[in-house]
Amino acid sequence: MVSLNYNSMNHRKLISKKAWNFSKGKTGSKKLPRNSSEFVNTQGFSIPVKIGRCISRYGKQVNVVTLDKFENPIEPPVKCSLRANLDHIVVGDIVRFSDDGESNIILSVDDRKSIIERINSQGKIKLLAANVDQMIIVTSPKFKQELIMLDRYLITSELIGVKALIIINKHDLLQNNKKLKEFTADFYRRYNKIGYEILQTSTFNEKGFEELQDHLKRQNSIFTGQSGVGKSSIIKTLLPDEDIKIGTQRSHSPLGRHTTSVARWYFLDNGGAIIDSPGIRSFGLKRLTSDELEKGFVEISKNAKSCQFRNCKHQTEPNCSVKDAVQQGKISTQRLNSFHYILNEVSLRNG
Ligand code: GDP
Ligand code: ZN
Repeated sequence: MVSLNYNSMNHRKLISKKAWNFSKGKTGSKKLPRNSSEFVNTQGFSIPVKIGRCISRYGKQVNVVTLDKFENPIEPPVKCSLRANLDHIVVGDIVRFSDDGESNIILSVDDRKSIIERINSQGKIKLLAANVDQMIIVTSPKFKQELIMLDRYLITSELIGVKALIIINKHDLLQNNKKLKEFTADFYRRYNKIGYEILQTSTFNEKGFEELQDHLKRQNSIFTGQSGVGKSSIIKTLLPDEDIKIGTQRSHSPLGRHTTSVARWYFLDNGGAIIDSPGIRSFGLKRLTSDELEKGFVEISKNAKSCQFRNCKHQTEPNCSVKDAVQQGKISTQRLNSFHYILNEVSLRNG
């Protein structure tokens, strides 16, 4: 299950304030200055410090790629070890690490632009990825669209504050299927009207991939969506040289020996990156309040400002602007139903 953290988090921490001093910046400062290029340890040895991106993590070992000042990758990945108080590092984090030619140790982690986290079945929070700019939500044409799932992903993107891009993959299935074409066109119109950008793609004939490449430029994009919609196929089309398995959960990476699938960060040539995180696929919105849920439905939230009651749930209350907007065709019945369905779930969970 994925939940949100929409507070800006301060996660820059030092491994040990006592053991290390900075050669630049004040002794005892909690932050490693952005331009810091070396560390001096308590024995007086100066050790070079590099800036890097965490591209994958296997237990206490993090694979890090050194970055230039524009955050472009400049060296092949190196293995870094983690100290206990930096255990929260995830894929996408920008880290400072010491590189003494033998072992690499992560010293600090920079503030994050965004963080995506998951709540597991025991209710524990698990961080999935950091510094994501864009959530790409993949769907595929179906007579019975699972739109509540799409809405859940959209709520997440709205509350985390990352852009959402919807992809309707498997466009080839629409050929010679008039009914499916109509269903899909209707779905497209409804979500486009709310303001979401939507691309139609096919990995079979690469339809829509030029447009998709444009949307990926200089953006850190995470792919989400239900199993079977074609996420891996899309990523494989974008990254033909990577070992990405189609139609099955990915389980092996050359950078680690663990067999469970882990999140991976892939750099693109156009200055963007793709984050492939298997953990984001099972999904829930356990920790939401009803106010937060409403914020996740942008068009409902906008209209709700004129409802007579501040806590209007847009059900049986009088003078409800949201219901008026539905009547006037400004809000789709499907979205309001979806809002009520998820509201009911959230209320049950919150007791
Ligand atoms: P994921 O679970 O979302 O990662 O989906 P996969 O990429 O593993 O694909 C699931 C199935 O959909 C596979 O059998 C793919 O061959 C198929 N698939 C992927 N893209 C397309 C497409 O554009 N058109 C059609 N018809 N099938 C596709
Ligand atoms: Zn209302």
